Amino acid sequence: MKEQKIDTSKFYGLMHTDIEGIDALIELALNIRWSWNHASDKLWEHLDPELWEFTRNPWVILQTVSRDRLEEHLTDPVFQEKLNDLLEANEQAISAPSWFQQNHPKTALTTIAYFSMEYMLNEALPIYAGGLGNVAGDQLKAASDLGVPVVAVGLLYAKGYFRQEIGKYGTQNALFPYNDPGQLPVTPLRLPNGEWLRIKVSLPGHPIWLRAWQVQVGRARLYLLDSNDAANLPIHRGITDELYGGGPELRIKQEIILGIGGYRLLKALDIKPEVCHMNEGHAAFLVLERANDFMKANGTSFEEALAVTRTGNLFTTHTAVAAGFDHFSPSSMEYHLGAYAKKQLGLDFNDLMALGRADINNRSESFNMAYLAIRGSGAVNGVSRLHGEVSRNLFNNLFPRWPVEEVPVGHVTNGVHMPCWDSKYADEIWTESCGKDRWRGELADHTAHISKLSDEKLWEFRTRSRNRLVDFIRARFERQAIVLGLPSEVVGIANQVFDPDTLTLGFARRFVPYKRPDLLLHDPERLVRILNNSEHPVQLVLAGKAPPFDEAGKGLIRKWVQFIQQHNLYKHVLFLSDYDMMLAENLVQGVDVWLNTPRRPWEASGTSGMKVLVNGGLNLSVLDGWWAEAYTPEVGWALGDGQEHGDDPAWDAHEAATLYEILEQQVVPEFYAHNKKGVSEIWVERMRKSMATLTPRFSTNRTVREYMEDFYLPAAINYKKCAARKGAKGKKIVSVGNELKNKWNAIQFGSVEIESARQKHHFKVPIWLPEINLKHIQVELFAEGINGGAPEKIKMKFDWMGEDGAHNFYAQVNTSRPINHYTVRIVPSYEGISVPLENNLIQWQH
Ligand SMILES: *Cc1c(COP(=O)(O)O)cnc(C)c1O
Repeated sequence: MKEQKIDTSKFYGLMHTDIEGIDALIELALNIRWSWNHASDKLWEHLDPELWEFTRNPWVILQTVSRDRLEEHLTDPVFQEKLNDLLEANEQAISAPSWFQQNHPKTALTTIAYFSMEYMLNEALPIYAGGLGNVAGDQLKAASDLGVPVVAVGLLYAKGYFRQEIGKYGTQNALFPYNDPGQLPVTPLRLPNGEWLRIKVSLPGHPIWLRAWQVQVGRARLYLLDSNDAANLPIHRGITDELYGGGPELRIKQEIILGIGGYRLLKALDIKPEVCHMNEGHAAFLVLERANDFMKANGTSFEEALAVTRTGNLFTTHTAVAAGFDHFSPSSMEYHLGAYAKKQLGLDFNDLMALGRADINNRSESFNMAYLAIRGSGAVNGVSRLHGEVSRNLFNNLFPRWPVEEVPVGHVTNGVHMPCWDSKYADEIWTESCGKDRWRGELADHTAHISKLSDEKLWEFRTRSRNRLVDFIRARFERQAIVLGLPSEVVGIANQVFDPDTLTLGFARRFVPYKRPDLLLHDPERLVRILNNSEHPVQLVLAGKAPPFDEAGKGLIRKWVQFIQQHNLYKHVLFLSDYDMMLAENLVQGVDVWLNTPRRPWEASGTSGMKVLVNGGLNLSVLDGWWAEAYTPEVGWALGDGQEHGDDPAWDAHEAATLYEILEQQVVPEFYAHNKKGVSEIWVERMRKSMATLTPRFSTNRTVREYMEDFYLPAAINYKKCAARKGAKGKKIVSVGNELKNKWNAIQFGSVEIESARQKHHFKVPIWLPEINLKHIQVELFAEGINGGAPEKIKMKFDWMGEDGAHNFYAQVNTSRPINHYTVRIVPSYEGISVPLENNLIQWQH
């Protein structure tokens, strides 16, 4: 990627750009590396303590403080020195040789463009709703740490996702404070001549202008588009107001902006990614625009351009149920993209629709964005091992007659960016045991490091962390109670709620029925007994938003709030409103146990439980998502039998009972099993195991390295090969594919002859191949995997040509499996494509 010469000296809303030394502060404030590196916190706090406390947004501070105050500090030698040190540290972090440079010095990969509907980088940039944004944000931060050349693309929402207020009786209210772009750590993206870069896309009847912005994330960059340009029609200006707001008509416009507008933005910046990574199907329209761009530049057909460009696209799916995919009606597609398909892509509308349909001939089927993403990618992955399996089932219909194990969806298990979620106490303790650079480069098991820390030290670490959380909860509770006008008796106890030495459980996530946030409320009296146990008390902090139109989800919040009120449990149980990144940070840093109770297998991965690992918290979770692959009895507790039970109420009741039992018989007694020094050795042992073995495995550092080595690098190499010589290989791929398609149904099998001799089964089969080039197919003996293992696939050799025109194929296998386990099949096989992802033809012998 070329270094962009973009003048960012005209900052939106900044008054004092002429003060000596201000540039340094601007540079610091606009690189949101401060969201995970807290070295500059003190400096901002110095400038405006109150504003810092409430916003944690350096850019707001810089814009708000007076000229006098800035001048006073910038001329103070102590402040100056601190500032210089910070700048130097930032420079060093940016220029130090990275894992990527050291490990892949000669790579063909120069740029990965990452597309996502949301990014959770910091609460000062509220353009996220939850998990999906978390994945995008944390991976971008890790890419910066590792020096992986990612540029990210997203949308700048004027209102973002709703903010939550909870009424006295537990009713959720949605609030939409306005994100003044001038106060966000973003800058307008200006061309060298000072012109604000604006991207044009066509919506029916009128072009629409998108303003471009940039966010510096360590050494990586995030580009954002918004539609609030003065030249737009009023109806278009609000398209990028809300994240996940409105209905499908708004969503399709947003996705056109993200995919098509986003790709055009890269082009305007002369960024030429080898790899485009779609974080969920929202961005899938980029598949069309990337092919469009290639087709125009190289004079190919759309089909050929797609065959070339898809090899450089990667699709990560995050959905665990078919209903979760975005889809658009044929009429909406026609209205929004009919003209684009015809005029830009040269595609008949039905050919466009076919890219998003399971049954390409079904004219009433809607357009599924995940299907487009699959048909436009060279690789597809789910976000945990279990979710990979779930996704293979969900997408099996796109690969008719293929065994589900061969549906081409792999997995890369998510991780979290540890430096962003660790507390200052955790940072201290990890630095002491493993050094400052522990999250960079390759990291493995930390058992040796963590075992250096004494039991007392680890227990104290936990106690300090819990103490800090209790202070936080008290302050939040007081604010919340006063704002709500709760009775003064309730407000008055704010400084007594929660106890620093009591076992603290946390539960925070989206309030939707499948996450079963009320599982603990199955037997309210039993829960009250657990909480109120006079010798071994327990406290519980909750948070989470219900989707604004999800009445069932909102009911679950009400259920908790009313439970707390009815049993007067304020001292033990609190529901904190407005779950966001800052609240999440405080919770995961302080709790002893993080609870998660989804219905398996609907939690694709889950990431919040990974955030407690680095902080010495333990997980008690259903064996779903990441926990299904992380759990062993030494590191935490598991709920469920590792099977699926749908929404069977009897199973819910059974799991609730098990949850109480685990708490009563294991978690609580173990936590309070204090030795003479007041330390629970058994607890510390679990902490040690969980910290040492799980933290490195569920870090985004591992995730990004896996994406890099298993996906980005091979995709870049493949794309370069296919794109060379004006897409010559792409043309070949299309012509071979079409030829196979035309002749495929005429393939005929003769009867298979099998002889068993000398511990071998000898298979012979005559096949009539109507002028099919043998170089383009593979004949295989196939047997299903045993006990969930990989299927057996043995290539059959072309042996001799029969007089009857049949090609005779031969293979031998050893006799460990019976003959009837094996079936002969024919699949496409030619250079440059991945089968069955890019060609799903298959013929089975009957
Ligand atoms: C981590 C996080 C999430 C995602 O957590 P899940 O495990 O998927 O529930 C959602 N929202 C916020 C604010 C988070 O910090």
